[in-house]
Amino acid sequence: MKMFRKIIPVLIVIVIMVTFSACGKDNNKLVMATNAAFPPYEYYDNEAIVGIDVEIAKAIAEKLGKELVIEDMEFNSIIGAVQTGKADIGLAGMTVREDRLVSVNFSVPYTTASQVIIVREGSDIASPDDLADKSVGVQESTTGDIYVTDEMPDADVQRYSKGVEAVQALIQGKVDAVVIDNEPAKVFVQQNPGLQILPEAYTVEDYAIAISKKNEDLLNKINKALKELSEDGTLQSIIDKYISAD
Ligand code: GLN
Repeated sequence: MKMFRKIIPVLIVIVIMVTFSACGKDNNKLVMATNAAFPPYEYYDNEAIVGIDVEIAKAIAEKLGKELVIEDMEFNSIIGAVQTGKADIGLAGMTVREDRLVSVNFSVPYTTASQVIIVREGSDIASPDDLADKSVGVQESTTGDIYVTDEMPDADVQRYSKGVEAVQALIQGKVDAVVIDNEPAKVFVQQNPGLQILPEAYTVEDYAIAISKKNEDLLNKINKALKELSEDGTLQSIIDKYISAD
């Protein structure tokens, strides 16, 4: 009996320690910050968030032995979420840029993309140069926003939180063109008759995964996972599932 009395407080301490270490940062989860309004990379299919980035994140989580948790937020909150540890990774069709590299690390690129121009059919805008003095809809804080703002001082830049809102403004005649990433552009044009994408693309960009600068270990693990997924063809098959060759 006496021995039990001595053991019980020790057991209680152990139970408390185990309980506390399980709280806080949950190491069994990989939290992905995204903006699920960017088809085919991330978008809602009824209640579920699906798309290329989601499938890539799931494949990575599986390799790391973690459960994927998706946090949907504004595009311009993603880098902050990664920096503060609210999310482990930012995966949102995000272009690698020098100014973003000041705040976060990026994985190796997993695909390339470009900025394109959407106009109404019959528009007199035929090339990027024609945008100079026009009203241009963009998605706030994206590379499209940055290019038009920096390179076209005379353009009237209208910023929307979602690409689809910029496209609605174009349909309603509130803006003359929309500058946005090529694959979402294709989806939006397909969904809205009367629009077209100009043949001349604007830029070539790399998409990569944003990871906290404080987590080199995760960066290395993710790069290793991406390399494996690329080498065994998984990455390409995920992309092919959502993007038909044209
Ligand atoms: N590729 C663009 C960027 O990184 C847009 C990404 C997005 O809107 N999800 O800014």
